[in-house]
Amino acid sequence: MTAFADQSCAALATVSGCDLAVPLVQGGTATYANFDYAASAPALRQVTDRVAELLPYYASVHRGAGYASRVSTDCYENSRKTVARFLNAADDQCVVFTRNTTDSLNLLASCVPGDTVVLDTEHHANFLPWTRNGRRVVRAADTIEETIQRIVAELCAKPAALLAITGASNVTGELLPIERLAWIAHQCGTRILVDAAQLAPHRRIDLQGTGIDYLACSGHKLYAPFGAGVLVGRRDWLDAAEPYLAGGGAVRQVTATEADWAPAPQRHEAGSPNVLGAAALAAACDALAALDETTVTEHELYLAHRLRYGLKTVPGVKFLRIWRDSTDAVGIVAFTVDGFEPGQVAAYLSAEHGIGVRDGRFCAHPLLAKLGVDGALRASIGLGTTAADVDRLIDAVSSLVEHGAKWNYGRTEGHWNPVPETRPFGGDAAGAAPCVL
Ligand code: PLP
Repeated sequence: MTAFADQSCAALATVSGCDLAVPLVQGGTATYANFDYAASAPALRQVTDRVAELLPYYASVHRGAGYASRVSTDCYENSRKTVARFLNAADDQCVVFTRNTTDSLNLLASCVPGDTVVLDTEHHANFLPWTRNGRRVVRAADTIEETIQRIVAELCAKPAALLAITGASNVTGELLPIERLAWIAHQCGTRILVDAAQLAPHRRIDLQGTGIDYLACSGHKLYAPFGAGVLVGRRDWLDAAEPYLAGGGAVRQVTATEADWAPAPQRHEAGSPNVLGAAALAAACDALAALDETTVTEHELYLAHRLRYGLKTVPGVKFLRIWRDSTDAVGIVAFTVDGFEPGQVAAYLSAEHGIGVRDGRFCAHPLLAKLGVDGALRASIGLGTTAADVDRLIDAVSSLVEHGAKWNYGRTEGHWNPVPETRPFGGDAAGAAPCVL
């Protein structure tokens, strides 16, 4: 039984797949309880509507005089404006469409004219790209205050071009004080990049208000899974750098021997752009902007609290946390269960209960090592999550600990799976459910 079982808290928005029936290993189906928003969030209804509306007009961008081409080009450029507006970007900040956060961070890494300072708590996407120029790693302390002091010491010891920091941890959801870090960085003559892959889906971000110079995020985590992400930021570094990719669309003039590269954002967007991805991202920005921010935050805080409170009552459950003094987090709860491997628990939740969570090291190996675990479970909450989903997850973990699994599980190719596996996967399984764009 769970702590707040009689309270109801409906989803805040309609996401695709919210009433998806998934097969169970023991037979029958369950409505899918998605706790993997932090990996990839399902599309918002407004996003799929917009994509469906645009599909008949899908055509080349910046490359055709035909009516559909003109519509596609307009839509692509307007999407840029929508993203800039959503993030309150300054006039000297431009929006470059990329594939995802990883792509955005690699792009910026190719433009930074100097060292980058990072924490050892970062997702690999905000850790590995910076080795190109000069990456200086600050070891996070067990409090935010001490961690900030270490960042200050590093920035004062030697000039750095960039402080690259995550807005919300993809492992624990904990937040760093971005505005304060931006102020500190600027005092040291350093710019700040925020990896907002996890922050943007949960909190409104004001680039001008907080002083963020660069921001990266992914459409597929922002309820717009159509293959686009963005790098938003100050254009001088972007204009001075070599184009990220060389090719059509990134140049003004080409001769047999030379190229006159266009300024950003086109400079870094060679090749045919992903107009549907950009439009989907813009539609998600508009849909999120229309939601009341306080309601969204309270919804997630309530559900995350409910989940933690319920899991705390299950013997052997331990939570992951980076900082002792952190007071705010987005809806992500990472935990381990004594006596069970994380992959085993995740396989059981999926197979016997139709619940999707993430397990593993979350592309944050240095952080997991620091926290002293070699894997964990992560339940992440989004706009479609309900209190009933939360209660199902708590009850399922509790039942595993109390009674054990009802099915057998084994490791195949490094992953835990039910033995035998009875559920259909692949095209046939997806085709069984009606897919409406
Ligand atoms: N940064 C953070 C904090 C993340 O959580 C992720 C993905 O989980 C990434 C970067 C990479 O995002 P993507 O896989 O969309 O490039």
